[in-house]
Amino acid sequence: MTPVIALVGRPNVGKSTLFNCLTRTRDALVADWPGLTRDRKYGEGKLGEQPYIVVDTGGVSGYEEGLDSEMAEQSYAAIQEADFVIFLVDARDGVTASDHSLANHLRQAGKPMQLVVNKVDGLNEDTVLNDFYELGLGDPFPLAASHNRGVTSLITDVLDGFPDAEPVDTEALYGQGIRLAIVGRPNVGKSTLVNRMLGEERVVVYDHPGTTMDSIAIPFTRDEINYTLIDTAGIRRRKSVREAVEKFSIIKTLQAIQSANVVILVLDARDGVVEQDLHMLHHVLKSGRSVVMAVNKWDGMSEEQKDEVRRGLNRRLDFMGWADLHFISALHGTNVGHLFKSAQRAYEAATSQWSTHFLTELMQGIVQEHQPPMVNGRRIKLRYAHLGGRNPPVIVVHGNQVDKLPGSYKRYMENTFREVLELRGTPVRLEFRSGD
Ligand code: GDP
Ligand code: GDP
Repeated sequence: MTPVIALVGRPNVGKSTLFNCLTRTRDALVADWPGLTRDRKYGEGKLGEQPYIVVDTGGVSGYEEGLDSEMAEQSYAAIQEADFVIFLVDARDGVTASDHSLANHLRQAGKPMQLVVNKVDGLNEDTVLNDFYELGLGDPFPLAASHNRGVTSLITDVLDGFPDAEPVDTEALYGQGIRLAIVGRPNVGKSTLVNRMLGEERVVVYDHPGTTMDSIAIPFTRDEINYTLIDTAGIRRRKSVREAVEKFSIIKTLQAIQSANVVILVLDARDGVVEQDLHMLHHVLKSGRSVVMAVNKWDGMSEEQKDEVRRGLNRRLDFMGWADLHFISALHGTNVGHLFKSAQRAYEAATSQWSTHFLTELMQGIVQEHQPPMVNGRRIKLRYAHLGGRNPPVIVVHGNQVDKLPGSYKRYMENTFREVLELRGTPVRLEFRSGD
């Protein structure tokens, strides 16, 4: 599972600045679902091929002095759900009372952690660092987050401690079954759907060496196809159905998306598509995983209501034309079988292999149909194409001046590749490389 790194510390020490460096993204998932504590931000980053999740505890209070109780609660919750804690302090402020109080908590929590002294820019590092030994948390690490100094070596050090979290060799996993993640907001019906899927007569859930009671990966077979269900809802434990003990968790959702081949995104017909659904979908798309959409609770809706939901879906999901969408009732089992078919199709599309010869011929056909535009009197030349990755398929196009290709031409190419290669259910990535 992807390691989770929490950033804790007083307000204004530079947590958000570091968060942005580590995630290089403006679209962090913010935990503002009903029933969840606010003001924890979740983002994803990668060091080389190694993905990680960063949780920022935000500046809850604006208090400069002292951790107020809400702030402390945020930090404690973040520490608890993290695999590693980065404790930030401010070089310019020296050690404060609230640094001491957080340090005490961290010592008791016993989580792997690193003390990081931020804002060392323009200061004498050695002198500054010396002050912070009194926190009793080992060697402090110097950082200047807003100058992006020390960030890469910090995250490299942190991830070095996770030998088990080496990137999954996805190539080796192909053929071992389709990894399905069922994700969605709280109460859309994920648990009901998981139980419905696993409870089907044609589904055989089997014991798997290494599967523990707490394992969240449930292997099963349906119509001679192997699947592994990655359970984000925390409800189904092998042979028994247990009370939902864990609340909805963004971390589990992000981890499940990352370790899946195909994501089934569950929507609630009664709500239509809401902002949080789009947020989650955005994360799935960024991860490159295949997608099947399930509009749940389709039972008991009047024709007018159904029409209205369909109109809303067409409007808000018009960019998802390449993914299957099913109207289902997890409660009654209606159309649940279609989800398996779509997942299988999406998996096949996402993991197909095409030879360089085949992709190059296809690319030449695309170019013949519509020539790329002239740039400074020279025509952009596309030479050959090869497959650079699977799940999602990455098509690498080689040529010259490819950085000048207009977006509209890239979209034309993508759409044609998608159509000819029958890439239903999977995102596709086109990469362009210039070689002059
Ligand atoms: P947070 O409240 O802990 O999330 O802190 P922010 O990331 O919002 O940073 C608080 C202030 O410190 C901002 O004005 C940042 O620009 C500044 N800051 C962050 N990192 C550094 C740094 O490395 N050096 C200096 N000089 N200022 C920094
Ligand atoms: P989760 O939080 O996403 O796991 O959602 P649950 O599976 O716990 O379902 C939330 C509520 O929606 C429960 O009361 C379910 O009985 C109800 N529910 C789930 N699926 C359906 C469905 O297909 N139709 C209807 N009418 N209710 C459903």
